[in-house]
Amino acid sequence: MEPLKLYNTLNSKKEIFIPSNNKFVTMYVCGPTVYGEPHLGHARPAITFDVLYRHLKAMEYNVRYVRNITDVGHLLNDADHGEDKISKKAKALNLEPMEVAHFYTTKYHEAMNLLNIQSPSIEPTASGHIIEQIEMIKKIINNGYAYEVNGSVYFDVIKYNKGHNYGVLSKRKIENLLENTRSLDGQGDKKNQVDFALWKRASKEHIMKWPSPWGEGFPGWHIECSTMSCKYLGSQFDIHGGGMDLIFPHHEAEIAQCCAANGKAAAKYWLHNNMITISGQKMGKSLGNFITLSEFFDGNHKKLEQPYHPMVIKFFILQAHYRSTVDFSNKALQASEKGLIRLFKAINNLYKLEPKQKSTVDISGYKIKCQEAMNDDLNTPVVLSHLFDLVKIINSAHENKQSLTLNDINEAKELFHHYVNNIFGLDSIKKETSSNIDGLMKLILEIRSQSKKNKDWDMADKIRAELGKLNIEIQDKKDGANWSFSN
Ligand code: ZN
Repeated sequence: MEPLKLYNTLNSKKEIFIPSNNKFVTMYVCGPTVYGEPHLGHARPAITFDVLYRHLKAMEYNVRYVRNITDVGHLLNDADHGEDKISKKAKALNLEPMEVAHFYTTKYHEAMNLLNIQSPSIEPTASGHIIEQIEMIKKIINNGYAYEVNGSVYFDVIKYNKGHNYGVLSKRKIENLLENTRSLDGQGDKKNQVDFALWKRASKEHIMKWPSPWGEGFPGWHIECSTMSCKYLGSQFDIHGGGMDLIFPHHEAEIAQCCAANGKAAAKYWLHNNMITISGQKMGKSLGNFITLSEFFDGNHKKLEQPYHPMVIKFFILQAHYRSTVDFSNKALQASEKGLIRLFKAINNLYKLEPKQKSTVDISGYKIKCQEAMNDDLNTPVVLSHLFDLVKIINSAHENKQSLTLNDINEAKELFHHYVNNIFGLDSIKKETSSNIDGLMKLILEIRSQSKKNKDWDMADKIRAELGKLNIEIQDKKDGANWSFSN
């Protein structure tokens, strides 16, 4: 059996995953900046690292998974100057910034639940770790890698780069960075344009600010992730994940901050998921193709031909390898919807199969093949293609064109349960078929009729009342009872 290999952006290759602490794995993933509706850019990293989290747990690792909530310090255009994304929204809506953060954190959690994404072990907020961030900044200043100007603190990239490599992750060269930034005006307080803010002095009108040794201000965006990852996972942990768009400057800055403060580069494996495009275009508000997750789920956007079940969105994302781009279109999503329905129909057929004495087809290799694909840098599309090979076999066995033994059937059940339910967290999108409801209602009405015969009027009334709450109405007749939806 091949060991788990993960593509490490730091070394630009797939590496065998060896956690530093035996069976205990530590993982940090950059979470959302909560100032707007959750969208596909939130769904993809959440799904990617949820699958990794579940796969590691299935490998019997004990995993501590930290995913943060950015509720302060993330400035517009990911820049060092300009307005805080959350403050800006709060001003526009005349709300407290924390109302904005709370509202969109709740929205994010709701969307993650619909996508059946497991909650991380810890979900710390940036605003809840201001003291720790100040402490880490102090450490960096004391070690000589940061300087204070007019109440703001900046990381000294040039000085850091003398003994370290600023560009170790993004493979950018400092000469090019200097070249590219030199032309920009408004260097402001920074010694060099490549330097980034650890702490920003707050202007009078700035609403989110805290006292610090450098005066009232707020932390930079990069320092929060370094602080919270090290606080909960230690100064050296196993996996750091996020979207490819975060490699520079966010993750490059995180590595520099941790090295400058602790002399260690934080994470050993840096994993990045690729981006999502919509009909070949980058998603953006100005392009009119910015579709939120809830718009996908209820079909309420002019670019969408129909609503798409959260499971269809998830299945579609899993059909691509996490390091490939994914292009959303109505056509592609409709194909995914068909595929997902076909998958669950076959699973349904699998549970109805009559075992035969002898197999006409060998399915014993699929377990290993699926495991190998998962261990090969989480190759979910290859796992799915193996499962769909099995779908074909199950369907032809269902039509009596192939035979499977009890052993085969049990093995297939286990395999589907493991990957479809446990690792991918997928669920059927057609659950309550009308035949199911009919059967259930028949059973409930029989129970109610039996309780009436037993003079258990309380139970009979309770059943009627509880069904009423579900908008189901019972009509008592001489020869039994009928039911109907009451809305
Ligand atoms: Zn981060």
